[in-house]
Amino acid sequence: MSKKKIIQVPKGTYDILPQDQAYWDKIRKSAQDTAADFGFLRIDTPMIEEQELFARGIGLGTDIVEKEMYSFTTRGKDKLALRPEFTAGIARAFIEHGLFSIAQPLKLWSVGPIFRYEQPQAGRYRQSHQVDFEVFGSTDAVLDAQIIQVAFWFLKKIGLKDIILHINSIGCKDCRGLYRKALVDYYRRNAKKICADCKVRLKKNPLRVLDCKNEKCQEIIAQAPVMVDYLCDDCKEHFKETLDYLDELEISYYLDSHLVRGLDYYNRNVFEFFISQEGEGKKPLALGGGGRYDGLIKLLGGKETPAVGLALGVERIIGEMKKRGAKVPEKAAPEVFLLQLGVLAKRKGLKLYEELLRNKISVAESFSRDSIKAQLKLADKMQAKIALIFGQQEALDDTIIIREMDSGVQEIVPLSRAVKKLKKKLVRGK
Ligand code: AMP
Repeated sequence: MSKKKIIQVPKGTYDILPQDQAYWDKIRKSAQDTAADFGFLRIDTPMIEEQELFARGIGLGTDIVEKEMYSFTTRGKDKLALRPEFTAGIARAFIEHGLFSIAQPLKLWSVGPIFRYEQPQAGRYRQSHQVDFEVFGSTDAVLDAQIIQVAFWFLKKIGLKDIILHINSIGCKDCRGLYRKALVDYYRRNAKKICADCKVRLKKNPLRVLDCKNEKCQEIIAQAPVMVDYLCDDCKEHFKETLDYLDELEISYYLDSHLVRGLDYYNRNVFEFFISQEGEGKKPLALGGGGRYDGLIKLLGGKETPAVGLALGVERIIGEMKKRGAKVPEKAAPEVFLLQLGVLAKRKGLKLYEELLRNKISVAESFSRDSIKAQLKLADKMQAKIALIFGQQEALDDTIIIREMDSGVQEIVPLSRAVKKLKKKLVRGK
């Protein structure tokens, strides 16, 4: 006999099982509260977009677009991709719906899955989830600082401490051009000492040489020219203002001259959030990142609209919550547990359940054929205060047994008076 293949979840994806939902609820609730606290409006964009949106926005030469995007052609010959991040889709929606006509700056937030064809490993998936915050319509550095404040606020609500902020400025088109040239010149002089990947990066996306992990390149990176030395006056001022605001907020930061981020649309401030890891020599874990993208809306065909945003990785946050024993709300015990014996009792019980709910009594049930004893055990396990027992005789008589679980005291009452009686008992028991 041939055995049927058991189909499993696709590589790099996973199921969020019931026992983990409390963590997800906490993330969603904290994100929602943070958004409300800082005036962000919710937006949800599709998980599929035109490939060109990401090619133009994130950049053709980037790892995300070139190597990691789930791209496909539909039956109708549309070239689509699963979103590898939120910003480009939200920027598209901003233009498409003329959202610039709403008050500026406009703050938007979202939460949901992103897709990247990466090599799965701990904390790295092919379908992962992000909480995303974006602010459109201002170049003011106060908003760069505020969005960083938002991330700290959100992570604090979740109960995560020891967050480390890395920040850098990658300047504007003009000063970045000068820096890029200096960097390329420096790397050319050291061409023999760098890894093969960096040789390619140098041609396609030179700034990315700075976050190469290859050991060979570390010494070269350490001596490389740094962007802040090349910033034009405006970018320098913007960077300084951001840092001043962060000082005011008492948010400490690490000036990370190697932080460039892997997306072409960024300019000026880029930042990442890390959390420290226990164990000697363990590197802090990246929880999220973001930056300013003043040119993206125009690049996508909208009118010039500066913007700044960030995204935080839900899986990594949940991983840290678990490691650190963060408290999540447990499911409340039902007030009443309804159990029954026989077909008639089951039928009447089904209806009674709804009546209890209409009267705002929380209830759980057993419709099994198990003995009353076994069903009572379940009521006990679920920590119900009261068991409602619908036996065969009670169902025939239109009565029901109300049993206090703690004392075991029970009484038979007419079905028509059961809800009233229950309410009294539950108030007394509180
Ligand atoms: P990025 O914009 O690529 O820096 O992503 C922001 C954050 O999202 C990262 O710091 C991670 O926490 C999370 N993230 C990105 N890609 C993945 C992935 N493949 N699996 C799990 N989390 C991810």
